[in-house]
Amino acid sequence: MKAALIGVGQAGGKITERLAQFDAEMGFEAVRGALAINSATSDLQSIEFVDTQLIGADQVNGHGVGGDRDLGGELMESNTQQVLDELEGRITSDAESIFVIAGLGGGTGSGGAPVLVDALQSIYDIPVYALGVVPGRNESRLYRINAGNALKTLVDAADATLLIDNDAWHQQGESVEGAYDTINGNIAQRVGLLLASGEAIEGVGASVVDSSEVINTLQSGGIAALGYASAPASEDSDENIRTVMTVSRQALLTGTSLPDATSSDSALLVAAGKPDVISRKGVEKARSWLGDEIGSRKVRGGDFPLESDQLGALVLLGDVDRPDRIDELIEEAWNAKQSSDEDRSDPEDGLIDDRIEGLF
Ligand code: GDP
Repeated sequence: MKAALIGVGQAGGKITERLAQFDAEMGFEAVRGALAINSATSDLQSIEFVDTQLIGADQVNGHGVGGDRDLGGELMESNTQQVLDELEGRITSDAESIFVIAGLGGGTGSGGAPVLVDALQSIYDIPVYALGVVPGRNESRLYRINAGNALKTLVDAADATLLIDNDAWHQQGESVEGAYDTINGNIAQRVGLLLASGEAIEGVGASVVDSSEVINTLQSGGIAALGYASAPASEDSDENIRTVMTVSRQALLTGTSLPDATSSDSALLVAAGKPDVISRKGVEKARSWLGDEIGSRKVRGGDFPLESDQLGALVLLGDVDRPDRIDELIEEAWNAKQSSDEDRSDPEDGLIDDRIEGLF
């Protein structure tokens, strides 16, 4: 599925760059245009591989929004036209989708991405998807609250929202910050393969996955998750039947971007590897198993011919049943809003503030 990528904020920009780089290194050419947008000059300076755009220089002078997602949203609102102008010509006519990529815990991306998705929806008639990074359990409260607030607006605005939990794709014991590089590399590989599947020309056969399968799997909107696992392919075909099954199970049960998302409206299973080792029987068994696991018969499938000694399974889940982790974030944001509203409406507050002021 040919896609244009737009990163908003620090995480959004870094992931966009990494994905565009992966796509270029692999020679897939599924990424059609990429842009990293930020309100902080310093974050844009480290981005070399894709074009960048600074927004809100008049308002925040290139210093970013310091985790203030309302301000992030305002900056995107007041600079939408400028961003759309910058995108013109970058989103090529052969692009089949647009991905807006952002960390949901920060300010520029969390506030800006939903506004941008809305604006793109009214202009382009290809699907506009969001790729949102959800803060890990040990990240700060501000990040969690921002993410909880961003989730609903983003999921409502986008054609589908692929969520990546920052706890999902790094080693246990590694801090999230220390693992950005690993996480971003894993995102680039997995999402990069998803975009490239359907673009393969080598070994074209009836079972090769088509871009429309990805779009159809995401059709019902909501939250999407992506899983991946791989293992060495064997010379022995019976062994490869087992390997396809094993990697498909691992992709869903231990390898998804949202660890507790296991039931969904639909799924796509892409088997990647050399065409002669992808076992048809293995793929059919795995598809049927996947349907039972997610609780849906809408399981699409296809091959992604790749020159590799590995057999890989990429599992895309469309419209997942909202996992507890996401509910918790939304609830935490809601509770934070309630208590700040109460604080504001409490007349005692003004008194306390006056008394404290009086002390200085
Ligand atoms: P913004 O620049 O104001 O949009 O804020 P950030 O993009 O820094 O958003 C903060 C959230 O993104 C937090 O949950 C961070 O852990 C996460 N984050 C920041 N940089 C990265 C990164 O390079 N990779 C990943 N996976 N997450 C990141």
